[in-house]
Amino acid sequence: MFEKIALIGIGLIGSSIARAVKDQHLAAHIAISTRSQNTLDKAEKLGLGDSYSIDPTIVVKGADLVIICAPVGAYEAIGKAIAGHLSEGAIVSDVGSVKEHVVKALKPHLPAHVHFIPGHPISGTENSGPEAGFAELFDGKWCILTPVAGTDPEALGKLKALWEALGSDVEIMDAKHHDMVLAITSHVPHLIAYNIVGTADHLESVTKSEVIKFSAGGFRDFTRIAASDPEMWRDVFLTNREAVMEMLGRFSEDLSMLQRAVRFRDGEMLEELFTRTRNIRRSIIDAGQETDAPDFGRHVVVHEDDENQV
Ligand code: NAP
Repeated sequence: MFEKIALIGIGLIGSSIARAVKDQHLAAHIAISTRSQNTLDKAEKLGLGDSYSIDPTIVVKGADLVIICAPVGAYEAIGKAIAGHLSEGAIVSDVGSVKEHVVKALKPHLPAHVHFIPGHPISGTENSGPEAGFAELFDGKWCILTPVAGTDPEALGKLKALWEALGSDVEIMDAKHHDMVLAITSHVPHLIAYNIVGTADHLESVTKSEVIKFSAGGFRDFTRIAASDPEMWRDVFLTNREAVMEMLGRFSEDLSMLQRAVRFRDGEMLEELFTRTRNIRRSIIDAGQETDAPDFGRHVVVHEDDENQV
């Protein structure tokens, strides 16, 4: 499908792309670059690519597809660095969780002779680094592409075909709309998880060992989300501020209503909401975006001395 794919950043997402592209022979050559020599060495040891360099300007040379797979805060510097080394007609894409910022950070630096098409696979885990990736990560998941005005349909078709080959269904969306949708489906839920785990950590009347010992399903599932990569999520909130603030405003209003319902023992309101939310989960499972298992699709390892261990 491509002669040379250059991946800049080789963590969970970059290494999953590398594995899937390799498994399915979608490129003749995979070139890998990342920030640290340590991660580059790990990628090489794992055999994720065909060539490796700490210098992104070297890996993009001759590439007909470049995918930036680093935290979005690093994009502008990467864009500036690679701009003068991109091949004529190359597609430059990314996997960042925020899209309007990515367009602002990259587009002004890229030469007119490349096709810039931002993307975001809606698939991930709380793990990071090159060891965390796996080829099936994108299977049956959505990938959103947010082409800018005037994008060449042929280049868009090629990138869409790649994501479909990786197992994803592709949706085309405006960058601003993407950021609003993802603020409520992903960014605010992460902020809530970071907050609730932080609150438990700050409680003085409950010891840390009690929080860990008695962590029931609810809290434990929040800790899984709150274990996500700190650098990546810092950048998401720094770059999708407006949409997150908007959704947080709505969230706080609804939370106040729930607080009132609890205070005034409004069981009817609570039950009505909980029934609606249960149905939303049902729809997500029916749409094939989640499993029915009570462990949210994780593998449960039951140890003899602790049957809650996951
Ligand atoms: P990750 O596992 O933490 O990997 C990040 C990679 O980017 C590492 O290889 C890191 O290099 C590299 N990197 C950081 N700064 C860099 C720089 N200045 N130049 C070059 N490489 C740099 O993160 P990830 O989960 O794969 O996330 C990557 C992107 O995918 C982010 O933009 C994120 O928003 C998006 N995304 C993530 C998920 C998810 O669930 N995790 C889902 C969809 C999209 P070193 O290790 O060498 O420092």
